[in-house]
Amino acid sequence: MPTIEHWIGGVETSGASTRRAPVWNPATGEQQAEVVLAEPADVDAAVLAAHKGFEKWRDVSLTRRARVMFAFRNLVEEHIDELAKIVAAEHGKVVDDAKGEIVRGMEVAEYACGLPQLLKGEYSDQVSTDVDSHSFRQPLGVCAGITPFNFPVMVPMWMHPMAIACGNSFVLKPSERDPSASNFVAQLYADAGLPDGVFNVVHGDKAAVDGLLDHPLVAAVSFVGSTPIAKYVFQRGTANDKRVQALGGAKNHAIVMPDADLDFAANHLTAAAFGSAGERCMAISVAVAVGEVADPLVAMLRQKAIETRVGPASDPRSEMGPVVTAQARDRIVGYITSGEKAGAELVVDGRGITVEGHEDGFFVGPTLFDRVTPEMEVYTDEIFGPVLCVVRVDTLDEGIQLINAGPFGNGTAIFTNSGPVSRKFQRDVAAGMVGINVPVPVPMAFYSFGGWKASLFGDKHIHGPEGIKFYTRGKVITTRWPRLETPEDHATHMHFPTAV
Ligand code: NAD
Repeated sequence: MPTIEHWIGGVETSGASTRRAPVWNPATGEQQAEVVLAEPADVDAAVLAAHKGFEKWRDVSLTRRARVMFAFRNLVEEHIDELAKIVAAEHGKVVDDAKGEIVRGMEVAEYACGLPQLLKGEYSDQVSTDVDSHSFRQPLGVCAGITPFNFPVMVPMWMHPMAIACGNSFVLKPSERDPSASNFVAQLYADAGLPDGVFNVVHGDKAAVDGLLDHPLVAAVSFVGSTPIAKYVFQRGTANDKRVQALGGAKNHAIVMPDADLDFAANHLTAAAFGSAGERCMAISVAVAVGEVADPLVAMLRQKAIETRVGPASDPRSEMGPVVTAQARDRIVGYITSGEKAGAELVVDGRGITVEGHEDGFFVGPTLFDRVTPEMEVYTDEIFGPVLCVVRVDTLDEGIQLINAGPFGNGTAIFTNSGPVSRKFQRDVAAGMVGINVPVPVPMAFYSFGGWKASLFGDKHIHGPEGIKFYTRGKVITTRWPRLETPEDHATHMHFPTAV
């Protein structure tokens, strides 16, 4: 059984870890590896290695840092097929989908290559007589990233290229469910010329996370995962005086207006709900059908759900793979049963699906509920599986009120051909990322990604301009070169300095 080890100071090691967790092949239901689970001593070793790495890396010139990032970005592109297969084998998503997440992660590294421009400060000449001011931003030190299973390459890459480009070192604690991609990325950084200790990986569970949140040498923590853990990480990290951004869960709604192109809307809703088996924080899990659009929309969604080809990632014909673990499958199946019991209309039932040759895989088929109401569990809870709920409303206002009444505010979308309707929606809806005829509006790397309300704790969104701010702190320098020519130049003034 292969063992996936930590990557600390440039070497793979099990360190002090004696505990192990299984890594499954979700398509077959078999264990394919085990991953070491860090003890506090391993976290300490990784943070100390990162601290040593930081002491050197912070002084490396902007140009050299940019060149390392450029080489890393190219290596990611060169190895995309290999990396996508690693993701697909442990996560279960189809290979094309895995490639998509790698490209989106690589775009953050591309953005980070612009660091000489991004880190430019400001200069003001003569703010007072013979006095100038300038500002610049400096790295924080050791930054930690704690990431979820659903994007094992992209989500960590929202963090580490930004942190490292800014001159920090990084300790990544990826999900224990699909850990291998992070070690592959560590090797690519080493091949790109990043000095040992600047990028480290500790594998583990709560013990590893707590070790990072409590470690005095960790300056900042970026977290992405479910809302309860995001809130916990934010509270414990900030109580320990760290800078924390913690992105949480979601329940993303898409409104379909009567004037929308229905075929277009149904195609995109199907992909947004069932792509990656619904295991995306930006997946659409609720379609809000306005007025008379509901009946024809549900009929189209039904057809497309039935036609979705479910199978293992290894089969290029598969459009949707298994979910990540047996527990995830059982949780999703439990929600489908609960929706049925609560009185929602089960239009397509994904329970009990079998995939030939993969009978023990963790598969759940696309599932469609109609006439869902807001008090049902299938509506209130983040299911994180291939389950799409249709809620029927009479007006746009009702749809917006429904969305805004929910606890989350990650992504949302509207399908319409009306400018005024879309403008009203984008202004009134309470969410951090809004799509107009774009159901999965994940911002490009040069914007920042983040939700509102229970989808984000902390005030900085991730990557893009806000990422640069998160991973640096500002300094303002005020400079005088005194001429000392007149008696006044030698005088003592006890008042608070004001510009003259
Ligand atoms: P999760 O919260 O279970 O795990 C996330 C990380 O936290 C993992 O590294 C895990 O090891 C760690 N963790 C788990 N339990 C912990 C505990 N009790 N104490 C400390 N650390 C703990 O999330 P997941 O199941 O891996 O991922 C799915 C969730 O992530 C969904 O809720 C999804 O919406 C969310 N997500 C959000 C975004 C976003 O951008 N907002 C992006 C991707 C995923």
